[in-house]
Amino acid sequence: GLARFPFYRDLAGFDFAAQPSIDRGQIRDLATGRFIANGEAVLLLGPPGVGKTHLAVAIGLEAIVAGYTVLFVPATTLVATLAKAHTEGRLEEKLTHYPKPKLLIVDELGYLPFEPDAAHMFFQLVSRRYERGALLVTSNRAVGEWGTVFDDSVVATAILDRILHHSHVVTIRGESYRLREKRRSGLLR
Ligand code: ADP
Ligand code: MG
Repeated sequence: GLARFPFYRDLAGFDFAAQPSIDRGQIRDLATGRFIANGEAVLLLGPPGVGKTHLAVAIGLEAIVAGYTVLFVPATTLVATLAKAHTEGRLEEKLTHYPKPKLLIVDELGYLPFEPDAAHMFFQLVSRRYERGALLVTSNRAVGEWGTVFDDSVVATAILDRILHHSHVVTIRGESYRLREKRRSGLLR
């Protein structure tokens, strides 16, 4: 399908008891797709393995069921695609392609720092979607660290200004689900 999810995950398969820092009500509300209708942004923040991508896919799936177009793209793929389009003189084309789906999910922002060019291109993309389409971003970095992620605090501030204006922030604390499962089964102590 169009969404290009990396794996199938749904809300029914999410163990909320394992992640008490998550407000179930907030996730259920996001799953209704109201934030998409309103063109708002969602930030899923937290350390690796706590379920950010799982929830992003599950929310994306609910959005499709509700009839919205969804595109899932890893941040590194997005940046590589924009950079390639830029060198090929097709950046404009890509900047109009990504805003098309009603919900754009950008996964794992912050695992790799952006080059200055990439930060600017991402900013242009966010600006085009701003108040037109919904954006869901997952990141292992707190928003205070985004200056480092974008290697440019001015661009980072401009991006955050647009993302945080109408936004839902879900901050997940706690340990990796996989490590937790291993610990529980006695494989780790
Ligand atoms: P993150 O994106 O935060 O690094 P993932 O969403 O990729 O983490 O989660 C890692 C793995 O653990 C995935 O297979 C995911 O389905 C599973 N997982 C994480 N948290 C939960 C949870 N609370 N309930 C069920 N599975 C979970
Ligand atoms: Mg992830």
